[in-house]
Amino acid sequence: MIRKLSPVTGELIGEFPIGDQAAVDAAVARARAAFPGWSALPLMERMRRLDRLKPLFAERGEEFAKRLSEDTGKPWIEALGHELMLVPAFLDYHHKIAPKVLRRRKAYTPIFLAGKSSYLEHFPRGVIGVISPWNFPFQLAIVPIIQALTAGNTVVLKPSEVTPIAGELIREVFAEIDLPPGVVEVIQGDGRTGAALTKADVDMIFFTGSVATGRKVMAACAARPIPCELELGGKDAMIVCEDAPLERAAKGAVWGGFANAGQACVSVERLFVVESVYDRFIDMVRREVQALKIGGPEEEADIGPMIFTGQLGIVERHIREAVAAGAKALTGGARLERKGQFFGPTLLTDVTPEMSVYREETFGPVLPVIRVGDEEEAIRLANDHEYGLNASVWTRDVKRGMAIASRLECGQVTINDVISSVANPGLPFGGVKSSGIGRYHGEDGLLTFTNARGILVDRAIFDAEPTWYPYNGKYPGVVQLMKGLIRKNPVQLARGFMKLRKNSR
Ligand code: NAP
Repeated sequence: MIRKLSPVTGELIGEFPIGDQAAVDAAVARARAAFPGWSALPLMERMRRLDRLKPLFAERGEEFAKRLSEDTGKPWIEALGHELMLVPAFLDYHHKIAPKVLRRRKAYTPIFLAGKSSYLEHFPRGVIGVISPWNFPFQLAIVPIIQALTAGNTVVLKPSEVTPIAGELIREVFAEIDLPPGVVEVIQGDGRTGAALTKADVDMIFFTGSVATGRKVMAACAARPIPCELELGGKDAMIVCEDAPLERAAKGAVWGGFANAGQACVSVERLFVVESVYDRFIDMVRREVQALKIGGPEEEADIGPMIFTGQLGIVERHIREAVAAGAKALTGGARLERKGQFFGPTLLTDVTPEMSVYREETFGPVLPVIRVGDEEEAIRLANDHEYGLNASVWTRDVKRGMAIASRLECGQVTINDVISSVANPGLPFGGVKSSGIGRYHGEDGLLTFTNARGILVDRAIFDAEPTWYPYNGKYPGVVQLMKGLIRKNPVQLARGFMKLRKNSR
């Protein structure tokens, strides 16, 4: 049994069964049985049924947000804004783009296939296994599910054992909108349940989590082989140029570092500040951090507890090692002396690239600051890292910001903003290097859940193709055809075709 403890009080708030291989296989079998019916529905009908989530959220969104806060300890405003609000945005976005992205369209046909037409269409992969983490346990599960269902797949979700209430909520919202049985299956469990899903009869795994687990998931998928999409960790850089809007940048750094108690793959985890504005800027940031209110959802705090006790240990180790190597904690630096998993928001200066807090993902309320001579040094350091998920650039010169953005090795960049690109359903999301493989969100994201099919049509005017058997006597015609193609010479091409035709039966 999963024993769910409240991150705010430490009390037991629920128990959930752990699915074994047999339970996973049974869930996958139900999803497979549902696939033909669901995928055969016209796209508009699938979207119409998914749209039923909108009135449900309008009516009960606040109740859902409170349950997510109970699961994670995060402020209600974050549960509503970061977990639930993306759902209607995605549904609306799909109405705009899915008919265009998923429709059959004409494709290129080369001249040597003259007389034929080509088409490209996308079809659903089948049953998608979605494995989700605990930091945004609702959003990071429901968004890929909605994209997968829109594209015509059915889904089996394995939520994190750390946040099983969110998993139950997903089960409930899809039950409420009355989708056919098996279209969305939720199987609670731990890492073994996730591993069982990668071995079950699924057609793709969509995984969000750590690099270490991502490697195992990819290896399991390789053994099948089935495709997998990996959305992994980050160590996002924020670059503050000398012409940055400092007031906004200071508030942005604090929100980007501490929203969701810093437990976001796109949290600011390396704040690069150029020398010329460093002292003034850090002073502003410190004041902003000191003004933050820490507490549980009921207290209307800015920062809640950490969701997962295991992560608290990592945060403490990173700070301990950094301080021993010369870093300074200007604020926070330790757990709070109160019930629950609360950690003081920590502004950590004098951080250097050798420190674990710089190299490894901290995934907690820690904002490590690095002083740089100029933005060139910031770009070099930002890129010289294992991860490449998101980044932000702060400058009043947007053209300069765009130029810097194009040089950053990562999947998304915001200029004079932080994190919010992930909230735009129209932008693809995903990482480079160890931050992951593949994209979801946006048009690319919808296509992630499909296979491409190419179709070539001949109207059957001739009884045979000139390049079919017999080959005897056709070689000179093919030579002329190739030369005509390379030289873009229509006369030579036509002669080549005629020669081939002459030698055809
Ligand atoms: P995790 O420990 O890797 O777990 C992710 C999911 O995988 C959980 O559901 C987990 O189950 C399951 N799992 C564990 N072992 C497995 C196995 N052998 N095979 C298949 N599934 C297995 O990650 P986490 O601690 O939950 O999440 C934090 C990490 O996720 C951070 O690195 C963060 O950056 C990353 N993340 C990335 C994104 C993104 O979009 N790029 C977004 C959010 C988070 P249990 O939890 O039940 O063990």
